[in-house]
Amino acid sequence: MTKVKVPVLTYHAANITGNSYQSNDRIAFQSDLYNLHHLGFQIIPLYWLAEWVNGDRELHHDAAPYVALSCDDGLDHDFIDGDYLNFGPQKSFYRILKDFHADVGQKHQPHAHLTAFVIACSRARTKIAMKSLQGHQLLNDNWWKEANHSALMAIENHSWDHRHPDIYCTEQANFKSITDETQATRQIIRAKKEIDRISAGNSQLFCYPWGHHNTYLAQEFLPTLGQQAGIKAAFTCEAKPVTHDTNPWLMPRYVCGPDWHSPNQLIQLLKQDVLTA
Ligand SMILES: [Zn+2]
Repeated sequence: MTKVKVPVLTYHAANITGNSYQSNDRIAFQSDLYNLHHLGFQIIPLYWLAEWVNGDRELHHDAAPYVALSCDDGLDHDFIDGDYLNFGPQKSFYRILKDFHADVGQKHQPHAHLTAFVIACSRARTKIAMKSLQGHQLLNDNWWKEANHSALMAIENHSWDHRHPDIYCTEQANFKSITDETQATRQIIRAKKEIDRISAGNSQLFCYPWGHHNTYLAQEFLPTLGQQAGIKAAFTCEAKPVTHDTNPWLMPRYVCGPDWHSPNQLIQLLKQDVLTA
């Protein structure tokens, strides 16, 4: 039997230098949704993949191909429409998905869903916005609860403070430097509790900042203390599809920009990695 292979595609609302596919992840996201749909992909929630690799859900080959969608860093524009700096009015990823879903119809994409990985610490978000978003405070959490309770979106864990270079010195601004229980607990479990408190949810997925992982996190911390805290899977930025035998603590994802930057490149990537046996 052909093996089920599920790509996870990742977008960043912060990736915007214009209003074209190559310069704006929203434009790419909208275009990709329709291309995926026309290629026959069924969009499924990311947490289904965590359940699948953990043996708690089946994904049947006859309903494939499947795709899951995520967006990183939790900019307000993941969920809220509005002007973005000097690039004019922008639809949020949520709005784009909602409009797409209404357009193609519930029965054709019954599980359409987007997972937003957000940064827990509000002080860290303020600092990152000050430096990396030119002072524009676009990393708020006042939309997390509504997003999490919508049928189309989930809020999940992208660490306490991203070990972001706006906060840490160069050698520490790297998630690979998290090699002890105290730091890992703060960055992953404390982050989960804070995100769950704000979003009134129960997050189960973690996404390594920049995709940085190490043996301690993937082989020791997450499978023991992480799992006990309710985390079921962790996502990297390795460009390959998830399969049933994927390690739940090293779930790969493709990233818009680094892994494809045109509709044709995405189609070629999917044909090569997913649609051929
Ligand atoms: Zn990130």
